[in-house]
Amino acid sequence: MKDSIVIGGGLAGLIAANIAARAGLSVTVVEKSKSLGGRARSAVRDQFIFNQGPHALYIRGNLARTLSDLGIKVTGKKGAPRGTYIGRESEFASMPTNVLGLLTHPWFSRKGRVDMIRFYGRAIMGRMNGSALAFELDQIKDAKAKGFASSLVRLSTYNAEPERIVAHAAADQLKLATGGVLYLDGGWQTIVDGLEKSARARGVEFLTGQKVEQIESSRDEVRVHTTERIIESRTAILATDPESENAWLGTKIGSGKKLRAACLDVALDRLPEPDHIFAQDIAEPLYLSVHSASANLGPGQVIHVARYLKEGEEAGEGTKKQLRDFLARFQPGSEDRIVQERFLPDMIVAHDFQDTTEQPGVEIDSAKPLFRAGDWVRGSGMLSDRSAFTAVAAAEKAMARIRAKS
Ligand SMILES: Cc1cc2nc3c(=O)[nH]c(=O)nc-3n(C[C@H](O)[C@H](O)[C@H](O)COP(=O)(O)OP(=O)(O)OC[C@H]3O[C@@H](n4cnc5c(N)ncnc54)[C@H](O)[C@@H]3O)c2cc1C
Repeated sequence: MKDSIVIGGGLAGLIAANIAARAGLSVTVVEKSKSLGGRARSAVRDQFIFNQGPHALYIRGNLARTLSDLGIKVTGKKGAPRGTYIGRESEFASMPTNVLGLLTHPWFSRKGRVDMIRFYGRAIMGRMNGSALAFELDQIKDAKAKGFASSLVRLSTYNAEPERIVAHAAADQLKLATGGVLYLDGGWQTIVDGLEKSARARGVEFLTGQKVEQIESSRDEVRVHTTERIIESRTAILATDPESENAWLGTKIGSGKKLRAACLDVALDRLPEPDHIFAQDIAEPLYLSVHSASANLGPGQVIHVARYLKEGEEAGEGTKKQLRDFLARFQPGSEDRIVQERFLPDMIVAHDFQDTTEQPGVEIDSAKPLFRAGDWVRGSGMLSDRSAFTAVAAAEKAMARIRAKS
């Protein structure tokens, strides 16, 4: 019998497997896809590396810390603000990157600048409380300044409707963003490959292409039914999503409030406008970044364009055209330089963005050896930082349970 079975071979599952195996536990990872990595996987097209939409590693975040703790090295450069633009209809302007930039920016009224600095200051100083961010944003009366503040929150949280986020969670993320992000050479696949390699070196067994269909559990044992076999273990870490867990355990957890994005991943032979490497629209939830300006992603340029989707919003051909038009506004003539293109209309960026107190914790049932990890599980950070944080916590709980029983 194994000590632990990890269900799901995305970042959360791979991290949990590494932590448990490093402590000497025997671990099996079951992944339904043929390859590991989940949403962190990258695809190679004509030697160009596409992450699944824009992926940036927060330098001071839980994922970076965990990778360093596990001895996994990734390389890349900081996403640079060079040539940064905010677009509103046909207006372009440099994006302010510090207080001086804000104070001298031509778009904002004097009052707007003061309100925005107060907003940012309250966020950085930890003065925002548990209310919705809408309250904090409403204190900024200048429409452009408010739009700009919202776009900064949108950028760091991936939420198309920043006003709905709990204020302190948005503030924490803004603070984290001040430490900068890395765009990775070779894409996020390098994280996946690094985690897989170190897990294998620690003796972890991988079963890919096997879907878990059923889980039975008692106080001391778990039986996991995959499409091919039944695996017995002392503990299980479920690193998938709320819907899978509900199906296995007959529960009704998860708010169903997903963060989603429509992504256009584009490779060009060269940039028509080498200085236009980042753009945000402060009126529409649109993002563009030339990731290859900071990372080695192939023989030319890789640009990620995205629309953050609101709850219930559907993306289709119209969205794709909007993303292409957005690209053409900042990189005129890019349509003639496209080498590869991929449209991902409905990506789940996170399974939840709720207030942390309403989210399910790492321990599924105190009477059973079942634990969970993922971006929707209560813990610190957002997105992959949350997956990493809860994966470490889940593995530690599983280890403690095994120690207590032996
Ligand atoms: C467009 C986009 C942009 C993003 N940008 C960023 C960013 O800039 N910074 C950041 O920190 N994060 C970002 N993220 C989030 C990040 O990708 C995720 O937080 C992270 O990859 C989630 O890892 P996970 O292991 O928790 O979940 P997943 O990657 O979803 O892994 C779950 C795994 O479980 C497997 N599975 C599911 N059901 C079963 C089953 N029945 N049996 C076996 N296996 C099963 C799945 O196949 C999958 O491999 C972004 C995500 C998207 C989509």
